[in-house]
Amino acid sequence: MTRQLRLPYGRQTIDQQDLNAVNNVMESDWLTQGPNVFEFEEKLAHYCGAQFAVVVSNGTAALHLANLALKADAGSKVITTPISFVATCNSVLYAGSTPMFCDIIPETLNINPVAVRKCLRSNPDVVGIIPVHMGGLIADMEALSEIAKANDMWVIEDACHALGGSWLDSKGVEHRVGDCSFSDMTVFSFHPVKMITTGEGGAIMTNNKQLEEKIALLRSHGISKNSKDFKNDSDGDWYYEQQVLGFNYRLTDIQAALGISQLKRLDSFVEKRREIAKRYLNELKNVTLPYQHPDANSSWHLFVVKIKDRKAVYQQLKVQGIMTQVHYIPVTQQPFYHREQLKNSDSFYQQCLSLPIYADLTSQEHSKVIKSLWKINQNC
Ligand SMILES: *Cc1c(COP(=O)(O)O)cnc(C)c1O
Repeated sequence: MTRQLRLPYGRQTIDQQDLNAVNNVMESDWLTQGPNVFEFEEKLAHYCGAQFAVVVSNGTAALHLANLALKADAGSKVITTPISFVATCNSVLYAGSTPMFCDIIPETLNINPVAVRKCLRSNPDVVGIIPVHMGGLIADMEALSEIAKANDMWVIEDACHALGGSWLDSKGVEHRVGDCSFSDMTVFSFHPVKMITTGEGGAIMTNNKQLEEKIALLRSHGISKNSKDFKNDSDGDWYYEQQVLGFNYRLTDIQAALGISQLKRLDSFVEKRREIAKRYLNELKNVTLPYQHPDANSSWHLFVVKIKDRKAVYQQLKVQGIMTQVHYIPVTQQPFYHREQLKNSDSFYQQCLSLPIYADLTSQEHSKVIKSLWKINQNC
């Protein structure tokens, strides 16, 4: 397979099995939502230990539908973190709610439950929280779910970075990310830089049957073809009903077949990412290494270091063909949102840099990144 000359910070891993899976669907009767979609959902739910999975066209659509399914009244407020991709808080606006931003904990890069509690004191009309497991590190789900329960709020985990990760709760019980033990729903993305890919794709996990049904309806125009759900009498076998305003957010069977094939190798992808992370942790010098939670086993979507002269380092790595990335410009600083500055998020942004990490990164490529960083850091 052809490889680009530049090393990206993240990329997909595609093999012959993936190609065969896609080819088989291309020659079948179904191209859009069909048997592979339902099989992918079943396997994803089983992998994560959740009761239900609904797959959709991308992670943003998954967030949109999760917000819609849980939505309270128009104009309600939802708390999220500024250190995420813009899609997280855009989804709050899509559903007619207003995003509120709470600052991160500087070490974990995740939303600070203390900041959430403080925000709630002056904003009792908040209806939900969307934490993001930044880079793969799990947010403090126990604290957040406790706050949510005490204040009658819902929780959507944006786990677009965290498929394949696991953690121990305070009772020592192990949880797979996506099991929704401490949330109403968990959302994944299958964009090529994420843990597994379907080209574009996303999923919503839940243990709540009503939420699952609501989301499945919203995914396909709000149309039900299931006679037991009909509000009017069926006219004949062709009959269907639109019951709510939905969308076309379906995943194709072509994509789902790729997803099933990729899911089989997820554990090996995660293992490879963990090896890469371990080597970075051992060998990098003169950078602040990412925090590792003692009770969590991250799937390492990102390897985020902090570097004093970040801009110069980024530029010099780029000259050498190593494409790092900055995750993230705080959403609060985007002209569209333009909110008050949050101290920890803004100072994190000044120094953060995501280094290449993906299952296909070769040992030689990895050495090149580490050695280039050593040299550049000596000169900066
Ligand atoms: C990738 C990502 C999304 C959006 O997913 P898409 O599949 O690209 O729509 C949302 N939130 C986070 C944290 C992401 O990393």
